[in-house]
Amino acid sequence: MTTVPSIEGYEKLRLLETAIEHSLNGVLVTDADLDEGPRILYVNRGFERITGYSRDDVLGKTPRMLQGPETSEEFRHELRAALEQGHSYDGETVNYTREGRRYVVSLHISPIYAADTGAVTHFVSVQRDETEDQERDDQLRLLSTALEVAGDPVLITDPQGNIVYVNVAFEEQTGYSRNQVLGQNPRLFKSGQQEDAFYQEMWETLKRGDAFRGEFVNRRHDGSLIHLEQTINPVINERGQITHFVAIGKDITDRVRMEDEVRRLAHTDWLTGLANRLSLGDTLETEMERSRRYGRPLSLIMFDIDHFKDFNDDYGHETGDEVLKKLADTVRKALREADALGRWGGEEFMIVVPETPCKGAATMAEKLRQTVAAMKTSCPISVTASFGVTDMRPGDTPKTFARRVDEAMYQAKEAGRNRVVSL
Ligand code: GH3
Ligand code: MG
Ligand code: MG
Repeated sequence: MTTVPSIEGYEKLRLLETAIEHSLNGVLVTDADLDEGPRILYVNRGFERITGYSRDDVLGKTPRMLQGPETSEEFRHELRAALEQGHSYDGETVNYTREGRRYVVSLHISPIYAADTGAVTHFVSVQRDETEDQERDDQLRLLSTALEVAGDPVLITDPQGNIVYVNVAFEEQTGYSRNQVLGQNPRLFKSGQQEDAFYQEMWETLKRGDAFRGEFVNRRHDGSLIHLEQTINPVINERGQITHFVAIGKDITDRVRMEDEVRRLAHTDWLTGLANRLSLGDTLETEMERSRRYGRPLSLIMFDIDHFKDFNDDYGHETGDEVLKKLADTVRKALREADALGRWGGEEFMIVVPETPCKGAATMAEKLRQTVAAMKTSCPISVTASFGVTDMRPGDTPKTFARRVDEAMYQAKEAGRNRVVSL
């Protein structure tokens, strides 16, 4: 067995004094004369650093010299009562430095008793400057308040992706309460509208320690979609480890909706609600491409109302508009899902008919011709239209294809109108 070497006597005193001298806390020893003072007998370097007073400034003085306007009366009473009764004291108070700067100090004061009489001979006070901590706390409180009142949703996760914080804006904009999401993984908000590759790229970027910026389509608590422009930043500690991910989003749902609406309007005919020429041209191109790739038939039907000019002249332009709307509705309802109907010009319409050879399209057109002729409108006379039909041939471009169906329709007009011509 080894014995622990003990330090005793003068050596022990020297060691303890060195320890106290270099302590970061302030240490102060006074006598126990509560009437006069008590008087300061010793202060360490920590005390000098905290208060700005040198040892010579304070020796023989009372620690009350540290007090000032904001030192509370209650503290003075409590302290005095404890010391008079020979109790130790733990508390916090406001003191002032030599330059008059206010600081918050926590202190522990112990009475020292005489070995023989048991009377209190000294007080030892250990003090800690709390100002820095308090300033840091204030700073933290300030920042977390800023996060709370920020208008944009903020979400923080640990490195595994478990949610550790969301702010008020997040709760308001997603409909999830804090308690519903804490500890959960943000995959909870996945809408299923984005590719796996998107999330994969996000994780790869974040795990590298880089920021990820992207447009997220998430689901609110009520199931509705929310579009977020979101930046996710990894938080990295001094050892280079990721401790958190902070996501700050901006709700762009309204903007996305508006863009969708603008896109829709740009592709829609204002009067009939059908696809417009621009949109139908896109569809034609796409379908020609597909038909060529898979070797499938593709046909076009074009029709134009007969003598519509006279119709307008007799019944007025507004009635003419009504007829156009009614016609668009009637034809749309008679088509298959895959057939794309659009308004090609004034009272001229086109149908892209996939998976159908010329003959089938001609049969379709004949049925449509009859349907149009039988259509009831607000006018006493019936509306008829002339139809052209053709199918796609090798070497066709959208232009040659459309020109041929136009030619077929022209021939239907020439041949007496209200009929179908295939070319
Ligand atoms: P057809 O086609 O049988 O040869 O004779 P049409 O009188 O119909 O002649 P055309 O197709 O050349 O005339 C088109 C007319 O359609 C001109 C215009 O008065 C009318 N029109 C075009 N767009 C609109 C529209 O948006 N609303 C109304 N009310 N009329 C339109
Ligand atoms: Mg016409
Ligand atoms: Mg016309």
